[in-house]
Amino acid sequence: MDSSPAPRNHASPIVSLRGVGKTFSRGTEALRDFDLDVFAGEFLSLLGPSGCGKSTALRLIAGLAEPTAGTIHRPARESVGFVFQEPTLMPWASALENVRLPLRLAGTDATTARERAREVLDWVGLSGFEKAYPRELSGGMKMRVSIARALVTHPRLLLMDEPFAALDEITRLRLNDDLLALWQRQTFTVVFVTHSVYESVYLSSRVGVLSDRPGRLLGEIEVEAPLPRGAEFRHSAAYAAACRAVSAHLERAMAANPSPREISV
Ligand code: ADP
Repeated sequence: MDSSPAPRNHASPIVSLRGVGKTFSRGTEALRDFDLDVFAGEFLSLLGPSGCGKSTALRLIAGLAEPTAGTIHRPARESVGFVFQEPTLMPWASALENVRLPLRLAGTDATTARERAREVLDWVGLSGFEKAYPRELSGGMKMRVSIARALVTHPRLLLMDEPFAALDEITRLRLNDDLLALWQRQTFTVVFVTHSVYESVYLSSRVGVLSDRPGRLLGEIEVEAPLPRGAEFRHSAAYAAACRAVSAHLERAMAANPSPREISV
């Protein structure tokens, strides 16, 4: 059955960045005057030219780095899950052990942790692969394990840094659909970094477009299409219109510096 993306609770953003700046020690200014609210239940993509500060923003939201200017309100570290572009699995451990690790580190008893890891592997479509080692899994399956590991602690906020960029197109489309289905069923909020206009529009309830470096939020587009989205949405006029709107913001973002960029439009 179709359903609209979860309504946003504007009263209470779960992440707030105000006037945030980040300058690295060698002088690179990644972000300047960056303002952003993330609302409970939304699927927000951050899109922008390569090197504009998207990953830096995500790391600040995660609490993996601190800003050099401005203020950030974010959930406690234990309520945040992070998925990187590389699955970063332990090669000597099974899928189940990889997913169980955050619970073991948090001191959860072994039986509960195993049950929970099994359940989350099932969410990502990997029932039956609990004992498989990373070398036995495809790129897409490794990414599924990585997503399961990020979700096993029940985070309120899932941060994803170009998680599907290294995957082939078919695998990427399938993971897009499965991630959306998971987001629809569960109650977490997503911030998803991508440099693909198509991917951002397909997945998101809102797309935030960043300016060229130093990055700041230049514009945003709401995508109200119901879920599940599927091929019908990909071929719809609404999808094409949203992609055009996002691309128009990107063109503004890049106008100041018209050198070649890694952007898929
Ligand atoms: P994006 O994710 O949009 O491609 P990043 O946030 O990774 O951009 O990087 C923004 C800028 O900050 C780039 O110029 C990058 O080289 C620089 N940068 C990122 N991380 C560091 C770091 N740890 N030390 C120094 N410079 C960095």
